[in-house]
Amino acid sequence: MTSSENRAPLFGVMLDMSEPLIRLRAVSRQYVSGDQETYALRDIDLDIRAGELVALMGASGSGKSTLLHILGCLDRPSAGTYRVGGEEASALGPVELAALRRDRFGFIFQSYHLLPQLSAFANVEIPAIYAGAGGLERKTRARELLKRLGLGARLDHRPSQLSGGQQQRVSIARALMNGGAIILADEPTGALDSRTGREVMEILIELNRLGHTLIIATHDAHGAAKTRRVIEIEDGLIVKDRKTEAADPPPPQEADAPPPAAVAPHASSRASSHDSPHAVAWVPRFIEAARMAWFALLAHRLRTGLTLLGIVIGVASVVMMAALGEGAKRSMEATLKSVPQNYVEIYPGKFFGDPDAANIHTLTGADADVLRRQSFIQSISPTLGASATLRLGALKAAATVTGVDESFFETSGYKLEMGPGFSREDIVSQRQVAVIDANVRKRFFPADNPIGKIIIVGRTPCFIVGVVAKNLAMESPGAGNRLVVYLPYTTVGARLAGRSYLDSIVLRFHPGVPIDAVAGGVSEILERRHHAKDVSIFNLEERVRAGRSFTNSMSFLLGAIGLISLIVGGIGVMNIMLVSVSERSREIGIRMAVGASRFDIQTQFLTEAVVVCLAGGAIGILVSYGLAHAASSVVPQDWQVILSVDALGLAVASSLLTGIVFGYIPARNAARLDPVEALSRD
Ligand code: ADP
Ligand code: MG
Repeated sequence: MTSSENRAPLFGVMLDMSEPLIRLRAVSRQYVSGDQETYALRDIDLDIRAGELVALMGASGSGKSTLLHILGCLDRPSAGTYRVGGEEASALGPVELAALRRDRFGFIFQSYHLLPQLSAFANVEIPAIYAGAGGLERKTRARELLKRLGLGARLDHRPSQLSGGQQQRVSIARALMNGGAIILADEPTGALDSRTGREVMEILIELNRLGHTLIIATHDAHGAAKTRRVIEIEDGLIVKDRKTEAADPPPPQEADAPPPAAVAPHASSRASSHDSPHAVAWVPRFIEAARMAWFALLAHRLRTGLTLLGIVIGVASVVMMAALGEGAKRSMEATLKSVPQNYVEIYPGKFFGDPDAANIHTLTGADADVLRRQSFIQSISPTLGASATLRLGALKAAATVTGVDESFFETSGYKLEMGPGFSREDIVSQRQVAVIDANVRKRFFPADNPIGKIIIVGRTPCFIVGVVAKNLAMESPGAGNRLVVYLPYTTVGARLAGRSYLDSIVLRFHPGVPIDAVAGGVSEILERRHHAKDVSIFNLEERVRAGRSFTNSMSFLLGAIGLISLIVGGIGVMNIMLVSVSERSREIGIRMAVGASRFDIQTQFLTEAVVVCLAGGAIGILVSYGLAHAASSVVPQDWQVILSVDALGLAVASSLLTGIVFGYIPARNAARLDPVEALSRD
């Protein structure tokens, strides 16, 4: 026989049949805690051939479990070599070890180690999910296995709804799910009464007859007697290794023969999982992760709810803040667009915000008259403000009175909606005439035509000669609800304000004249007339620009508030996930034992975090819509909340990102757990 004839594939791995399936040489496992060294195993040499049925006997603490964990690649030896199927296990990385566990080994534990939140059926499916088997194939096989083990009527029962013997049969089915060529049973009958224990033992012996290699750790001499080889272990040393009388000749099957149809109806599942590209295997794993996430979240509803709340608040704040900022920005842009380019205002004061401005009384109507004659001026109007109570019969309201001249509306871009407005004669003769704005009209003349009516401004009865529309570009933010009446500035000066100096002069210059030339010309004329440089000129665009930078920093601030709430929510998620990982370490250990790689575990917990955050994000979006709706009826028109598709994208992206960022560390912790240690925790 040449060596190539000796080699036959065992589930995709070339198996050197000249070598036993399992070969340990000088294997030790040592635990160090502080100065103390405990040897759980010392210098073990052990060969097990394919198809053997081995009982591992020894007192509690003798090292049986440790040996099984090393054989099943859940644990690594501290010294010595372990070859499985001709491959050196110590040379394999964690991913390959996980694949080896998943594809070749089946674990059966004393305490069954089923996942309590899953049905019997779903428990059995798990190993195939990690192997990337297709859904239909997987379900058929799981159902078939459970039926063969007498649990056909118990598929949807939870472990807590099953007896111990039934649970152990579920775990046997799980061990067989990916083929289970080598079954490692750690005191499988230890928790069962003697009759049920015998039944389970019978099943295991039957499996061996069908070609599976079995290694059973047990106290039970009775059960052990039915095996063909008994290895006795004491204090980590093999003290006896003998064939028993039960040793009828091992079946002629080779380990690489397809698993017998009786228990393993689909021999090809494993081969196909090897052929399938990783991307395909990834989908059922992800679905499994999402499903487990869902179970985990349902298991702790209050906790999940509170965690969700954090994310809901975070996402809703991000969306609301972004929407508010966007609304403010848009109204600012709209204002900017309506501001005429060739418009400036002249104010007393050496500079904008001069604290002395109130004491400068030099700006007069005569100044405006002189400026009006300049060639670069298109139109110009003084303004002189006061406040007064408006009265009409029993109706009364406080209003702002703005004294202007006949060209004010044209200059400032107000639209005269009704009436002729002021004439030059009205100004010159200080006539008692008024132009009211839309708010005054709404208040005093909701139904009838106000033109020609008399309204009393302070103590001055005035004929109404016009109605103007609101012009938000020209008014300070929030002035949208103010009542304003316009009177000739001469009338305001004489009858309401008791002064002749102006508040400002507004002017529009001919388009095309450079603004610097206008400012220079105006300054020069007024400086000459006042014998001082005591006025400043500024351009509305500057005011809007100042407003815009305010809006920008406002948006930034709002955004920061949103972001901070989201981070707080994310920290909540991280906190809960950390708790969840430590609570569920047993589940993690079980999953690793049946073949989950670290990557699978990490994916599962990350998915969980993302699911919470996305759910929170979805609710957050609904909440923002509600808030935006409520806000739109409260906040003024020029401070609208703009919820856009962008905002929704932002909500989804921010919740996804929060899940990934804050789920990462808990998921990594979960993935780094040591499977043996995780299994032993409660
Ligand atoms: P058995 O399964 O035969 O009861 P184990 O393999 O569980 O025995 O344990 C063998 C020895 O190793 C025992 O003395 C036990 O105390 C020790 N041991 C097992 N796990 C650990 C551990 N994580 N740290 C320290 N000692 C351990
Ligand atoms: Mg043990």
